[in-house]
Order: sequence, then C-alpha cells, then structure tokens
Amino acid sequence: PPRQGMTPAYIALGSNLEQPLRQLQAAVLAIAQLPSSQLARVSSVYRSAAVGPGEQADYLNAVLQLHTALQPAELLAALQAIEQAQGRVRTIRWGARCIDLDIILYGDRQIATSALTIPHAQLQLRNFVLYPLAEIAGPNLVLPDGADIGTLIARCPRGDLVKTRQRLTPQTSVPRDIE
Ligand code: ATP
Ligand code: CA
Ligand code: CA
Repeated sequence: PPRQGMTPAYIALGSNLEQPLRQLQAAVLAIAQLPSSQLARVSSVYRSAAVGPGEQADYLNAVLQLHTALQPAELLAALQAIEQAQGRVRTIRWGARCIDLDIILYGDRQIATSALTIPHAQLQLRNFVLYPLAEIAGPNLVLPDGADIGTLIARCPRGDLVKTRQRLTPQTSVPRDIE
C-alpha cells in the first residue's frame, strides 16, 4: 500500500519510434526518479499494430503504478518533461512518437479540465492499456465510475495485442531491442 499522503496512480507508456524498448526503459527509469514518488509495479511489455494515421511501426506499450504525492497537474508536467527529454516531437495527432506517457488513473479522482482528463478518456477502448493495467492491478480494480476492470476487459477484445517476455526495470541496464 502507498505511504501516507501518497496516491496510487497508473501511467501508460507507449512508443513506436527510435528503439521503442529503450524508450520505455528510459521512461521507467525517469519516472522512478520523480520526486515525492515511488515506483510500485510495472507490467510486461505488450506489442500491437499501430492504429494511428498512415503506415506506422508496431507499438510497444506498458503500464506502471506509481505511488506519488505529486498532484495530478504536477504529475502531468513531470511526464511531459520526460517526453521532452526523450526528444518527443509533436506532429500530427496520433502520429508516430518515440514516447507517450498518459495518466490513466489517479487514485479514485475524476478530473475533466482542458489539460487533463482522468480516468483517461480512451481507457475503455484500448486493449493496449486495459490488459497491462489488469496485469498489475489485479481483477478487483474498480474505476471511479464503478466499472470494474474485469468487465472492461471482457468488452475489449485482445485483438492483435501480444504480451512479450520483455520486462522493464528501474535499473539502468539497457535491454536489447526486440524485433
Ligand atoms: P490520447 O490522449 O488519445 O492518448 P495522445 O496521447 O497522442 O492522444 P498527446 O498529443 O500526447 O495525445 O497529448 C495531448 C494532450 O492531452 C496533452 O497536452 C495533455 O494536456 C492532454 N491530456 C488530457 N488528459 C491526459 C491524461 N490523462 N494524460 C496525459 N495527457 C492528457
Ligand atoms: Ca496516448
Ligand atoms: Ca499523451
């Protein structure tokens, strides 16, 4: 359980550019070093075909749980700084990217501002978020609106999503990229 004053947040990581596995690994390392925060769990790495516009390389995705005393807006700013540090260039919406870090859940908070929607607006539609989320949260996770993860998973086909054997760690060792 989180220490006092810490909220369990779930963060989704995605990459399909510039050695995606290294991108995810670097982001986990950076997130593990955020102030007032403790990395709690990290899912397996999942692979799936891109759904954005045009021809894009496959995506690698993962979800992690962070216990944090950062407020949601502070956490978003910190994640965007990590995206910047890893050289993310914003082009077209849903275009290819070297790293994307989205806040999926922040405790049981519900937030709807122009900068931040929590739970993440597309959560229920995205197998590449729901399956790794279920892997680390377990079957009893309930969203702030009362939906439970098992029901969401049952309604969201696995499709071409593959759970790889690759793990991300908060250590600095760099894994070899997978095909
Ligand atoms: P999607 O949100 O559909 O996954 P995306 O991740 O490609 O799309 P970005 O270009 O990375 O979209 O982000 C656009 C904006 O989304 C960000 O500037 C941020 O203010 C906003 N945003 C709203 N809710 C969230 C959230 N829960 N986590 C991260 N960013 C969010
Ligand atoms: Ca996203
Ligand atoms: Ca994003």
